[in-house]
Amino acid sequence: MSENKIPYKIYLEEDEMPRAWYNVRADMKNKPAPLLNPGTHQPMTAEELGGVFCADLVAQELDNDNAYIEIPQEIRDFYKMYRPSPLVRAYCLEEKLQTPAKIYYKFEGNNTSGSHKLNSAIAQAYYAKKQGLKGVTTETGAGQWGTALSMACSYLGLDCKVFMVKVSYEQKPFRREVMRTYGASVTPSPSMDTEIGKKINAEHPGTTGSLGCAISEAVEVAVKNPGYRYVLGSVLNQVLLHQSVIGLETKAALDKYNIKPDMIIGCAGGGSNLGGLISPFMGEKLRGEADYDIIAVEPSSCPSFTRGVYAYDFADTGMVCPLAKMYTLGSDFIPSANHAGGLRYHGMSPILSQLYDDGLMRAVSVEQTKVFEAAEQFARVEGILPAPESSHAIRVAIDEALKCKETGEEKTIVFGLTGTGYFDMVAYEKFHNGEMDDYIPTDEELAKYRAKLPKVD
Ligand SMILES: *Cc1c(COP(=O)(O)O)cnc(C)c1O
Repeated sequence: MSENKIPYKIYLEEDEMPRAWYNVRADMKNKPAPLLNPGTHQPMTAEELGGVFCADLVAQELDNDNAYIEIPQEIRDFYKMYRPSPLVRAYCLEEKLQTPAKIYYKFEGNNTSGSHKLNSAIAQAYYAKKQGLKGVTTETGAGQWGTALSMACSYLGLDCKVFMVKVSYEQKPFRREVMRTYGASVTPSPSMDTEIGKKINAEHPGTTGSLGCAISEAVEVAVKNPGYRYVLGSVLNQVLLHQSVIGLETKAALDKYNIKPDMIIGCAGGGSNLGGLISPFMGEKLRGEADYDIIAVEPSSCPSFTRGVYAYDFADTGMVCPLAKMYTLGSDFIPSANHAGGLRYHGMSPILSQLYDDGLMRAVSVEQTKVFEAAEQFARVEGILPAPESSHAIRVAIDEALKCKETGEEKTIVFGLTGTGYFDMVAYEKFHNGEMDDYIPTDEELAKYRAKLPKVD
C-alpha cells in the first residue's frame, strides 16, 4: 500500500455537506432544448407540466437560470441517514493493475435501495408531500428506482404506486418484495388497470413489457387520480439537479486534499448519476476555469450516445409524455437481454445530450462480458460487489488506468460507483457459466427504429 497521505476513504463532515443543489444549466451557453407538447409541438408550459408533475418540480424542470437551489432542511436531514457517501481511493485496484494512475470512486450503494436513486426519490417525494398530495406513481424496470421511491414515500407517509416491467416483476421477486415491505403497491406492466395497458396487451398478447410502456401506465394513473402526480427516476433536468449532490460532495472531498482529477467517468442510462457527478466539474469547464476529460459509458447493446441521433423523440411507448430532444435510439427500441437493467432506456438526459453535442464530454460503449470481467476484478480487490450498471464505469476506469501504465502518465481518474449488485446474481451466474452474450444491434436494426422518430421542425 502506498504511503500517500490521502486517506483510504474521504468523508466530509456533516457541516461540509452541500446546502444547495447545483444547476449546471445556468452555466450552459446552449441550453437543453425544451420539452414539447406531443400534440402541438409547442414548448410545454408550467401549467401543462403541472398536470403531471408537482409544482415545485415543474419550476426546477424549467429553471435554466438559477445556479444554486437550496436543499430543504427536511431533505438534508434524510440525506444524513446515508450521506455523505465516501470517496474511496482504490489503492488495491491500482496495485493490482500496477498503474501509475490514481483512481478514486464515489460510492453511492451504501443505502438499502442500493443506488444513487434515493437522492432524487426523497426530493421528489418531499415536494409531493409539501403540495399536500396523496401519493405518486412511477415505473420501474429492474426495480432500483421503485425501491428508492418506496423508501422515500414510506418515510414521508405518501402512497406509492409502482408499475414494474412484467418480465422483472416475474423474474426479480426480491426487489418487488422490498418495495412492498416499504408499503408500495407493485403492478406488473402492461396491466389491465389502464387504457394504455389494455391496448398494449390486446396488440401484443403475452408481451413481457418495457420501460416505455410502464411509464405510459404510470402517467395515466397519475393524471386520472386526483391527488396523485407522476415521478421519474432519471432523464429529467430536475433529477440531474438532485443528483448534483454526488458531484458537489465529490468536489468538496477532492478540494479538501487538493486533488485535481484529469478524468471523470460514469455509466449512463438516462444520465442522472453521470449528470450529477459531473455537474460542478462541468460548470468549471463551461466557465473556463478548469478542464476535465469527461466520459459517459453505455452498453454496446443500448448505445444511445454513440450510435443514436440527436432529435426530438417520445419518452414513452404510449406517446403520452412530452417530446424530449435527446440522443435516442427511437422509443420502440428494446435492447437485447442485457443484464444492466438501469441502462436499457432508449434516450438520454437532454442536458447531457446538449453537452455531448457541444463536444464538452465524450462517450464510449462497452460489451457486457467485458463489463462483468471488470466487475469481478474490482470486487476481488476492493471488496464491494458492484451493480452491473456501475461496472460499466469500472470497465472504462480500468482501461484508462491500463493506458496510463503503457504511457507512464500519472492521471487522476474519478469514477461513479452507483450501486451494489446483490440483486443481480443471476447475471453474475450467467457470466460465471459462460452463458452471457454480447449482442450488438446492427445498423439496419437501428435505422428501422430511427425511421419512426416524430417529425418536429
Ligand atoms: C438506475 C441506475 C443507473 C443508471 O441510471 P442513470 O440515470 O443513468 O444514472 C446506474 N446505476 C445504478 C446502480 C442504477 O440503479
